[in-house]
Parts: sequence; C-alpha cells; structure tokens
Amino acid sequence: MNNHDPRVNELCNLLNRAAHAYYVLDSPFLEDAIYDSLYRELQDLERKDPANLRPDSPTQRLGGKPSEGFITARHRLPLLSLDNAFDFDELKAWHKRFLKLMETDNTSKSVDCDFQMVGELKIDGNALALTYEKGFLVKAATRGDGSEGEEITANVRTITTVPLCLHLKNPPLWLEVRGEAFMPTETFATINFEREKQGDPPFANPRNACAGTLRQLDPRVVSSRNLDFFAYAVYLPEDWKALEEDPKQPSGQWEALEWLKTAGFKVNSNAALIDDLPQAESFFNHWDIARHQLPYVTDGVVIKANLFEAQQIVGNTQKAPRWAIALKYPAEEAPSKLIRLNYQVGRSGAVTPVAEFQPVSLAGTSVSRATLHNADRLIALDLHKGDTIVVRKAGEIIPEVVRVLRDLRPLDAKRLSLPNSCPECSSKLKRESGEAVTRCMNISCPAIMRGTLRHWVSKGALDVEGFGDKLIEQLVERGLVRSIADLYLLEARQLVDLERMGNKSAEKIISSLLLSKKKPWHKQLYGLGINNIGEVNAKALSKAFSNIAELQLAVTQNHDSITSIFGIGEEILNSLRQWFADVSNQKMLLQLKKAGFSLSSTLDETLINNDSQTRLQSPFLENKIFVLTGAMPSLTRSDAKTLIEAAGGTISSSVSKNTSFLLAGEKPGSKFEKALSLGIPIINEMEFRELLAKFSSNL
Ligand code: NAD
Repeated sequence: MNNHDPRVNELCNLLNRAAHAYYVLDSPFLEDAIYDSLYRELQDLERKDPANLRPDSPTQRLGGKPSEGFITARHRLPLLSLDNAFDFDELKAWHKRFLKLMETDNTSKSVDCDFQMVGELKIDGNALALTYEKGFLVKAATRGDGSEGEEITANVRTITTVPLCLHLKNPPLWLEVRGEAFMPTETFATINFEREKQGDPPFANPRNACAGTLRQLDPRVVSSRNLDFFAYAVYLPEDWKALEEDPKQPSGQWEALEWLKTAGFKVNSNAALIDDLPQAESFFNHWDIARHQLPYVTDGVVIKANLFEAQQIVGNTQKAPRWAIALKYPAEEAPSKLIRLNYQVGRSGAVTPVAEFQPVSLAGTSVSRATLHNADRLIALDLHKGDTIVVRKAGEIIPEVVRVLRDLRPLDAKRLSLPNSCPECSSKLKRESGEAVTRCMNISCPAIMRGTLRHWVSKGALDVEGFGDKLIEQLVERGLVRSIADLYLLEARQLVDLERMGNKSAEKIISSLLLSKKKPWHKQLYGLGINNIGEVNAKALSKAFSNIAELQLAVTQNHDSITSIFGIGEEILNSLRQWFADVSNQKMLLQLKKAGFSLSSTLDETLINNDSQTRLQSPFLENKIFVLTGAMPSLTRSDAKTLIEAAGGTISSSVSKNTSFLLAGEKPGSKFEKALSLGIPIINEMEFRELLAKFSSNL
C-alpha cells in the first residue's frame, strides 16, 4: 500500500484503465470530457502535494504504448500532445505565460511581444507522422507514447489525401509531415450501422473508429473505410534550399500551412491568422456554432504562436509544446463530487431528493444542484455518500445526474435513500402503491404551506404582487399564516415587523391582497392548488360550474357532470373528492368567503363561459369586426376581446371600411377620427354591454 491520498489512488487507477481502453483497445468506457475533468483533478492534487505523484500516474505519460502486431517506429522528433484550456481565462493564462517566457529570454529581442498567432480547428482524429525521403512517402507512424508509435505505412498509403509523392522540384533527402487522420462523420455513421447489423459492437466515436481502422492488419479494410487526413506541421532539414518553383522554407506556422498545400497535402481551410486574444475568442465562438455543419468532428480550436523563432524560445514540456494550446468546446457532461443529498417538500407534499455537488461548468454555466425526481431514480442511481457523479445539461436547461462513477466511490461509503419521515415536520412519509412519489401527509407541514402560498400568489393564480420567497418563509415561520385565508387577515403593521419590509412595501402588499379578491373564478379555483387541477382543468371546471358549491355538489352527487367534461377523468374526480373531504379545506373555504372571495363567476364570466354553446346556437356577432380604442371604465381589453369572440365576433387592430363597430373608451386614439370619417358606428362600454345583454337574452 502506498501513502498517497486515497482519492489519488482511485483517480490513477481509473484513468489508467480508461487510457488503456481508449488508446490500446480503441473502446473507451468514459466520455472524453469526464476523462479530462478527472485528469485535471488528479493534476491539481499532484500539484498541491508532490508526494501524491505516483510513478505510474497518467499525467506522466503520453498516449499509449504501441500495440503488438506492428513494427515499432521511433520518432525522430518527439510527437507531443497539446495542453488544454477549458475557458477563456485559461487561454489568457496561457498567453500570459507565453509572453513571460519570451520576456525572460535574452535572445528574443527580435520577436515582437505582441506576437501573432494561428488559429486552427482541432480535428478529433489520430496524429500521424509521415516520413518522406527524396519526396516519396517511406514511413507512416502513429503517435504511440510520443517517442515510439506503430508503423502503419501500408495502411496510410490507402488514404487518398496523403500524397505518396510530393509536388516539389527539389525535395529534401528527408522531411517529416504531421497531421491528423480522421474518419468523416458520414462514414462513421455508415460503418456503425453496418457493424450493428452484423452484431458487432459499434465504435464509440469517429476518433476511436479511425484509430481502430489505422490499426487494421489488412490495408484493404482501411481502404474501404474512407479515412481522410489534414496536414498541420512540417519539419524540414535546416539546410534545405527551395528551388525557385518550390515553396521556400517556412518561417512560421502560417507559412508552413501554405508550404504543405503547395507540396500536395490537404490542409484544413479554416485556419486564420490571429492578432490578439479577442480575435482568438471570436475564432473559438464562431467555430463553436459553425462546427456542427462540418463533415468531421472537431473538439476545440488550437491556438499556436506563429513564428518558429518564438516557438523555439518557449520550447516544450515533457508532454506538450508551450507555444500552443487546445481550447476545448464546453462540456455538456462533467464529473463532480456529491456534497449532500437534500430533500425538498413540494406543495403537494411530494418529497424530491436534490443532489448538491461541487460546482461544475456545464455548457457555459456553473451548476451545483440537480433534482433526482423521486425515490426510484435515487435507487436506480445507487447513490452513496461521497460519490463522484456525472452531471449533464445536454442542450437542456435543467441539469441532471446521469450516473455514478463507482470506481471512485470511497470505501465504506453508505448508500443514500429517502428518509422515512418528513425533513421539515418529521411526520411519517407515505408512498401510495403504484405511485412513484413519496409524500408528507401533514397538511400543516411548513414546507407544504410555503408551497401552497407560493402557488396562490403566483402569476397564473391570484397574481398577488410583492410576495417573494423570503416573505412567505417569514410568514410561515412566525406562524402569522397557517392557511391561504390567513393572508387576508394580515395587517400592514404586522408586515412592517418583518425583515426587509418598509411601510410603503407593507401597504402595497395589503392592497395587492385586496385586489386579488376580484380575480376571476377560474383563477381562484386554480389557486386553491388541488392536486391535478392545473390552469386548463380549472378553466374547464369553472365553465361547467359557476361556483364552488355547485362544484362540490357535483363531486359528491353527480360524478357524470364532472367526468363528461373534456379532459377530466376519474383521477381528477378523485383529487377533487379528497380535497373537499378534508375538513381544513372546508374551513379555509369559509374563511375565504368571509374575507370577501366570491368563489364564483361574475356576470361577464358567465357570458364567456356560455360562449361555446351560445356561439353555436346564436352567433349574434358573427361576421362583426370590432376595433378597440381608449380605456374602458370597467372592462379590460382582454375581457372585451373574450366577450366579443364568445359571441362570434372578431377583433381587428385597425379601422377600415369593413369595421362593424369601434368600441371606444376614454382618451381614444386616431382610430376614433378614422372611424368618424368612414362613418363606422362608435359605441362605448355601456352600449357594448347592452348589445351583449340583448345577445344573452336571445339564448
Ligand atoms: P488531445 O486529443 O487533447 O490533443 C492533442 C492532439 O490533437 C494532437 O496529438 C493532435 O493529434 C491533435 N490535433 C488535432 N488538430 C490539431 C491541430 N490543428 N494542430 C495540432 N494538433 C492537432 O490529446 P491526446 O494526447 O491526443 O489525447 C488526450 C485526450 O484523449 C484527452 O484529453 C481525452 O479527451 C482523450 N482520452 C480519453 C479517454 C477516455 O477514456 N475517454 C482516455 C484517454 C484519453
């Protein structure tokens, strides 16, 4: 046993296994973003305490050992990897380090500190080193561990975009070209389709498919797989002199790309010269979107110092050049350590486990909480204390816990499960058979109360202004409110005693509460928060039953009148039955009535509610076009619109000779003049109501 931090051992073991599966078996079991993130964590632990550095740490190695079955090819120059940056701050840090290294070098006077860079796409394939002698391809090798790779010349010869003979008049005795072999996405999809048809396991991604293909022992298979190659580096003997027709010895990356093109290589056409960091950021942002249209996979951009002179000054680390950095696209999945599991109690009493974890950056935003929905999900995840979890936000707004990395589970970690009693009020939790939800059944549970109040004051319900979470929390905590009806007993002086509450705000809240008593019947019904009664069902019920007493009577004595309503079935009937059977709800209804709630429809609502039948029987305003202008004394625009439409009429936004009526309130606009000039009948609210009354008496 070694003395390293147990997490270091767990990380080393997992990452080494993952790297073997990735580099040697071409069959990864971790996503790249998860690998990268855990690799970062290991690097940080090693940096913090060098005693944590294990000799077999994956941070000390590059790639994988060359596989057996191929001749080993020793690289003349080490074939390195790239350091990664995962955001612009890391790109800035790299830029700063580069400038510092340049400044400390005495010989670098000739290199301008505002150095130019080249931005390239980071092709997600496999690095190849191609050796040409006197202009002919003589050897192709994989990167392997950076010093030795696999010799795969016969296979690479089948890639049509790799020139077998260079387009040079005076080729040097020796030169090496580096670039990325890759599998186009369409080919990848076709190959996987075929593999699955034949019962073979599909490749995880185009990069692994490409690596697997390059290592085929039969070049005919490679030839059939349509691999491609982009060249991005050339190493020429220093003394090579170009003939006049040949491209001259390049002095930097930009010229090298041109050189490669002229010599017959396929070079990615999306490279750009970059003058500063903002340009590098725009380059990255552009390709973060545009990459989805490319016929191959790119997992980031590579920013390189342009001039070779500058590259030589800063040099390389053991694993990567200091003059280049790969800026990777934001991950949609990331690992994180679970801090704790919280339990949220909703207004229906449903208990939801919520994972709280160390913040991770996902698709550009920091995330630290995700709901696990219910007990079944918790069991399926098999979550343990201290687990490392994988969190995802793929295109979604709501983050979710996808799975647990069991290899990183601490020894003796305890399994987490839903508690037996409510975390808020300690009463016993209950799960009905056949239900996924576990509930707190105590209606005076503070969490349920908070949820009920939040729902009552919400926009879709009574829309009471000024009620934030903090205020609701205090009202419940101090016992000032124990039911919805208690809200209407509040006095401004009680509110003033609460945190962050002045006289003005308190008065405002009291008047919002007063106003809420005039909200329509369907909103009152929805606000009661009866299980399964959302806005649509509340509207449907309020149309069929004009007050709460009628609704309750139907629930207890006339089920058909409820279940015959479109969209309402047994489940909703049951919810209503349970709700009305609860004595505390009955008490609350009485209190609400006492507070001034009608819990019934107004005349206007009744007219609207009858709309569908009346329109069919007597489409009184059919073919009538109304235009509205100015403020009506008691009708809102949307009420007027509903009433007109209920009677079969339509609304238009401008006056024309086809307009039937202009409904004008106070301070009418230019529509008034226009209607006058065209001789269109102009009516006010009273006349409009008379029209409607006539319409309703026609029924
Ligand atoms: P890398 O893929 O992050 O980047 C280096 C490589 O980028 C170079 O070697 C080169 O081949 C390539 N490249 C593409 N376009 C280039 C361009 N324009 N200029 C220069 N180089 C370019 O690093 P790596 O060392 O090849 O592999 C490490 C990565 O492999 C990790 O970051 C991880 O994402 C992945 N990996 C995954 C697992 C797993 O289990 N999923 C295991 C091991 C490694």
